[in-house]
Amino acid sequence: MVTRQEDFSKWYLQTIQQADLMDYSPVRGCMIFKPNGYELWEHIQANFDKRFKEEGVRNAYFPMLIPESFFTKEKDHIEGFAPELPWVTEAAGEKLEERLALRPTSETMIGHAYSKWINSYRDLPLMLNQWANVFRWEKRTLPFLRTSEFLWQEGHTAHATGEEALDRTMRMLQVYKEVIEDVLAVPVFEGEKTPSERFAGAMNTFSVEAMMQDGKAVQAGTSHYLGTKFAEAFDIKYLNSNNEHVHAFTTSWGVSTRLIGSLIMVHSDDQGLVLPPKIAPQQVVFIPVGPWQKNPAIMEQINEWNQALQAKGVRTIIDDSDNRPGFKFNEWELRGAPLRIEVGPRDLENKQAILKARDLSEKETVAADQVVDRVLAELDIMQSRLFDRAKAMYQENMYTNINTLEELEAHIADCEAQGKPAGFVLAGWDGTEASEDLIKERTGFTTRNIPFDHAYGQKDTCIVTGKPAKETVWLARAY
Ligand code: AMP
Repeated sequence: MVTRQEDFSKWYLQTIQQADLMDYSPVRGCMIFKPNGYELWEHIQANFDKRFKEEGVRNAYFPMLIPESFFTKEKDHIEGFAPELPWVTEAAGEKLEERLALRPTSETMIGHAYSKWINSYRDLPLMLNQWANVFRWEKRTLPFLRTSEFLWQEGHTAHATGEEALDRTMRMLQVYKEVIEDVLAVPVFEGEKTPSERFAGAMNTFSVEAMMQDGKAVQAGTSHYLGTKFAEAFDIKYLNSNNEHVHAFTTSWGVSTRLIGSLIMVHSDDQGLVLPPKIAPQQVVFIPVGPWQKNPAIMEQINEWNQALQAKGVRTIIDDSDNRPGFKFNEWELRGAPLRIEVGPRDLENKQAILKARDLSEKETVAADQVVDRVLAELDIMQSRLFDRAKAMYQENMYTNINTLEELEAHIADCEAQGKPAGFVLAGWDGTEASEDLIKERTGFTTRNIPFDHAYGQKDTCIVTGKPAKETVWLARAY
């Protein structure tokens, strides 16, 4: 087993393999989600889906194949996505009259539909979401984090005013923050992307960014304010209360299976996967120990606790396979089950059970009549503990006192020498793409986002040019 410290990338690949989450496919960059991995996505999906519906967003499904002519309608959009599009050019042995792209995102198809469905201000706002697969032919791929086909949700809304559309854009970013922090226990940095990092065709892109244990960033979710750009390209117009035909204002927002990769890189350890209870497919695993096959009272006791916990909505599993207990302990550690309960003849005699939380090294003895309550409480406590631990890891890897490119280079060299993450660096930026390019060229760091608040401070001068800073930005290496 390679450790995080020895080789973080290798550790990540090993961790997901040992937890049996995925497999590779014959097509480069396209991965297979095995049941253990897909179940994580199902729990992520269920939590977001519930929140979207509470926001008044309904689900729909749009076709995966998009005619080429749709892409050419919005200039920035096609420019941004063209290099990553796979095309269908033939079907049933015949060349198609127009090539069809495998969707990289659905603004065009949905814009086309919205132009038909939206006629009057009474049709607004229109707020739909789809759960789907999308394709972006990535040059560099990594399971879950960056794949050529990935699963995601894409929300698309249309509004009567720009103000309302911008409110919705920000609101959905908050929903992302809430769910990612509350359910995945992954803290995020929220802010606006710089123009060079904007979604192709957006007026503004906002993101939530997470920090991995190696200090690198992952863009965990994005929300885009599209103004009237797509409405103009696809003729989405409505009759306002003054009887004028005017363009609607639209938004789009998405999170993907990349969240699974983030979750793993934030919480897992050298023993394997660590999952926050709220997202774990199996929250509690019961393991009988000792000669339990000869002692039916052990299974009776386990069944009783199991039923009581399931009645409270806890996802449990009893591992009554004939593997040795030590093998089972290891197996469930690799898979990241949050709580393990061991019960053997001596425990039965002493009216107790042994409780082990995946992220703690100590085992705990719990009185038999306390087991159900203790498990319920510990699931909540562990959820917060993982969030707090991630927050502490962020604090340790955040740097706010670096003011020149030379200082940034020295900081990176210093971190490398000490074998610690170079992390997130708060920097002043003069607002030019030239400065962003130079930062990237010299250090590999990119602008992550411009924080909304100045909780971590504000910079007066640009880290590259020393000129007055237009913005204060987070810089980091990113996946
Ligand atoms: P975008 O439409 O580019 O704003 O991306 C929407 C969401 O999908 C963001 O959360 C991205 O981080 C994520 N995403 C973008 N490209 C990939 C990829 N190749 N694999 C997995 N997730 C991705």
